[in-house]
Amino acid sequence: MIRKQRRPWPSSLPLELQSLEMAARLRVDSNAISMASTDFGKLSRVIPAAVLDPLSEEDIVNLVRFSYASSSVPFSIAAKGQGHSLRGQAMTQGGVVVDMRALNINNGRINVNGSANLYVDVGGEQLWIDVLNETLQYGVSPRSWTDYLYLTVGGTLSNAGISGQSFRHGPQISNVYELDVVTGRGEVVTCSRDMNSELFCAVLGGLGQFGIITRARIPLEPAPSRVKWVRMLYLDFSAFTRDQEYLISINGNGGQGMKGLDYVEGSLVTSLSPPNNWRSSFFSLADHSRITSLLETKHGVLYCLEVAKYYDHLTLDTVDEELDLLLTGLSFIPGLIFTKDVSYVDFLNRVRSGELQLRSKGMWDVPHPWLNLFVPKSRIFDFDAGVFNGILRQSSNLVGPILVYPMLRSK
Ligand SMILES: Cc1cc2nc3c(=O)[nH]c(=O)nc-3n(C[C@H](O)[C@H](O)[C@H](O)COP(=O)(O)OP(=O)(O)OC[C@H]3O[C@@H](n4cnc5c(N)ncnc54)[C@H](O)[C@@H]3O)c2cc1C
Repeated sequence: MIRKQRRPWPSSLPLELQSLEMAARLRVDSNAISMASTDFGKLSRVIPAAVLDPLSEEDIVNLVRFSYASSSVPFSIAAKGQGHSLRGQAMTQGGVVVDMRALNINNGRINVNGSANLYVDVGGEQLWIDVLNETLQYGVSPRSWTDYLYLTVGGTLSNAGISGQSFRHGPQISNVYELDVVTGRGEVVTCSRDMNSELFCAVLGGLGQFGIITRARIPLEPAPSRVKWVRMLYLDFSAFTRDQEYLISINGNGGQGMKGLDYVEGSLVTSLSPPNNWRSSFFSLADHSRITSLLETKHGVLYCLEVAKYYDHLTLDTVDEELDLLLTGLSFIPGLIFTKDVSYVDFLNRVRSGELQLRSKGMWDVPHPWLNLFVPKSRIFDFDAGVFNGILRQSSNLVGPILVYPMLRSK
């Protein structure tokens, strides 16, 4: 008979840890270790001693309590959601990675409260796409999103969660009523702006360094059913940013009862960052070649302003007129404005089809050296000159989407 060899207990973890009931869910096999030692960026490799697949919040509490109390062999703990970080933020050398997604096997961790104070209670391990689908069953949805929805609630709330809705509602971390957090001492603390507010503010955008989010209470709004989704092309960066800034300034102040847009983003179009890229294919073949020839014949860089206006059966008859009014006077290249009419879900989930295409070509699982920057308004023209029209124009191998959009400091 061949005996299956047990992997030895990692030397960086105290032996006493094995006596906890939770230790049955600690994995030291090579699959678990390899999954937890890399991330979407594929720029860092950090090897943990073990991975915990928690069955409950209590498992996490017991692990953290033990680590806090353990002076013999101190070890670190990192929460991991989808692992879509770029530089090892959800990893820990020689410690324990808590694979939050294991909690998802417990059903019922997305609970919509439909009373006057609309909100949803969500497990930190839940994917935003699942939150969207569940809340839509009640005709409501969160209001602030990321471009891509297959990320965990705990993961984006530990960063910021920024997208085209942030100018209006703030990033996702500005759209949280309450959190349950397992602190570094292994206590479960409920916190909000008014209760344990220091912890609340530290954990939001805290990269998992101030505790592990096990529940978030997220505000909801009545969900629209459809979206007018528009892209406009610009030659001139100053016209592009001026129009972007104008559009985010309307936000309810547009006069004539104008509510403003629901989403404003923008991107660069170059021969290596073409108008249709993996994030979404928007342009017909004919439009695509029109834009590409403009790019090739005259200009190395074009700018694409992207906006969306939500609507439903109540606003169906007025949405086009409102949108026309909002876009009147913008300085895009005449004729280079393109509109799509899509469902709310298809709009929010727009990156998914590109992801599936890349996956099918084996191109999702490659290094992603991404960078996110906030550039002050006072230096954005220098940035355009130096980076977009300098470095990027001269480079023949900088491939990939480049997003550029303004944010209101007050949000
Ligand atoms: C294709 C793609 C598109 C993206 N688009 C956007 C975008 O539009 N806007 C945007 O803001 N971001 C975007 N991101 C970045 C994304 O928000 C972050 O990478 C986020 O961390 C991903 O969540 P995750 O579940 O993969 O977290 P992980 O990478 O697993 O973890 C991220 C950090 O959060 C910590 N963490 C994870 N779960 C918890 C928890 N429950 N409690 C406490 N800490 C925790 C980890 O320790 C780590 O520090 C995008 C990423 C990808 C891959």
